[in-house]
Amino acid sequence: MSESAAPNQTLSIATVGRISAPQPASDPLPEIQPFKPLPGRHVKPPVAASALRHSAFDEGLFWQRIPAYAEVDTATFLDFRWQGRHSITSPEKLLAAIQGVAPAEFVQDAARGFGRSPMSVRVTPYLLSLIDWSDPYQDPLRRQFIPLGSQLQADHPELTLDSLHEQEDAPVPGLTHRYPDKALFLALDTCPVYCRFCTRSYAVGLDTELVDKVHLNADTARWDQILAYIATRPELEDIVLSGGDVYNLPARHIRMLGERLLHLPNIRRIRFATKGPAVMPQKLLTDQEWTRALCDVVAIGRQLRKDVVLHTHFNHPREITWITRDALGLLAEFGVHIRNQSVLQYRVNDNVDTCKLLVKRLGAVGVHPYYVYVHDLVKGVEDLRTTLQKAIDLEKAVRGVTAGFNTPTFVVDTLGGGGKRDAHSYDFYDRDSGIAVFSSPNVDPEKQFYFFDPIAALQPNYQARWADPVERERMKAKASVMARALRGHR
Ligand SMILES: *Cc1c(COP(=O)(O)O)cnc(C)c1O
Ligand code: SF4
Repeated sequence: MSESAAPNQTLSIATVGRISAPQPASDPLPEIQPFKPLPGRHVKPPVAASALRHSAFDEGLFWQRIPAYAEVDTATFLDFRWQGRHSITSPEKLLAAIQGVAPAEFVQDAARGFGRSPMSVRVTPYLLSLIDWSDPYQDPLRRQFIPLGSQLQADHPELTLDSLHEQEDAPVPGLTHRYPDKALFLALDTCPVYCRFCTRSYAVGLDTELVDKVHLNADTARWDQILAYIATRPELEDIVLSGGDVYNLPARHIRMLGERLLHLPNIRRIRFATKGPAVMPQKLLTDQEWTRALCDVVAIGRQLRKDVVLHTHFNHPREITWITRDALGLLAEFGVHIRNQSVLQYRVNDNVDTCKLLVKRLGAVGVHPYYVYVHDLVKGVEDLRTTLQKAIDLEKAVRGVTAGFNTPTFVVDTLGGGGKRDAHSYDFYDRDSGIAVFSSPNVDPEKQFYFFDPIAALQPNYQARWADPVERERMKAKASVMARALRGHR
């Protein structure tokens, strides 16, 4: 910093005056000249068009491929109210919507899947129109939202409903304070869609036949209690406002929660977490009151020199369309910074090409890839999980494809509340038994935290050992001893 820098108070938007419109360069900009190769210099060969597919969008009315939306025009399809009103909220309605589009055998299979799923059903027309119904078994979007009876696998024996212990680390209902300076504020328990793989299936959505949930309603008295707690903790600087999904909060609550947090002197950073842009980007374009509220909280944050960003959740490049590009472009104009958190899922995004394309396409719409989570142990979705090794391999393939700051970190949220760990940072990982042991010095320096690969990914002799409760304990005990011995020596 220069010696002559003025004290902070004298240089602020308030004293300098609000900058209304940026000033372009006063001189005409020089033209870009045609490139003439220099003799003897190596020039990379031109790339194929496919290398640029991340920024090529189908500009058409793609939803009209679905018979139910064949007559829906662009203005209607962009209307967030229409998307909300036509969202499918029961298995019966979903099955009716895909009747005649998907093979009959598939529809019956889905009906059996819903009967055994811990999550409620909610799918937007937008999402439904992005699924390839000619091949619904393989479709990566279908796999995330529509369970199938034929693909359900037994849960992992180490699974519990709240396997990350979010409730155990909650001093007040809906606030998980696990890490020293940041906390997770669960403002509500509803979402614009429900994902099969939701880590918070202990709370999110309606009760299902399988699960009576903990309810975290959008309740201002509960929020008061959370804010009161945050105010008593000077070490808390960073709040993740999540749920459920903040897309479902009305604009006045976005403003109210955002501003109340920003005015707490200890708070420096807030993040609004929403899957919305991935499943209903229309809202950003047509729910002007909501978008305005978000942009205003970001602007107020800037005035207070605090950081307000949007965290979203795209898992597959096909979830990013021209509507996403336009919606997120609008946020970019208002200076809203957006980061993405993906969940790695078997046959959804667990291959190199999909991961690379997702990272590049997120970049094309102005979103920074932040994390790729190894899929947590969640009830009823063992068919979506991958091994820890898969994340490690993918990280190697993805790093270098684009800017380092646009390269996601592959993390695993360890069982029992150890928190997020870099996938590579295990103390011990036995690929045969699928047991990984981590330490988490900022959560508990002594404790060991585990992650378990899906049993279906193991060799038959190890699958048999997992089926035997005595062998199971033996494998875990061995892993624990090895981890203590190796800790710090890898
Ligand atoms: C993920 C998470 C956070 C935020 O962690 P970052 O690594 O900073 O994104 C905070 N609290 C809890 C309980 C979390 O699970
Ligand atoms: S949008 Fe997020 S919180 Fe809601 S069901 Fe999906 S993963 Fe869970």
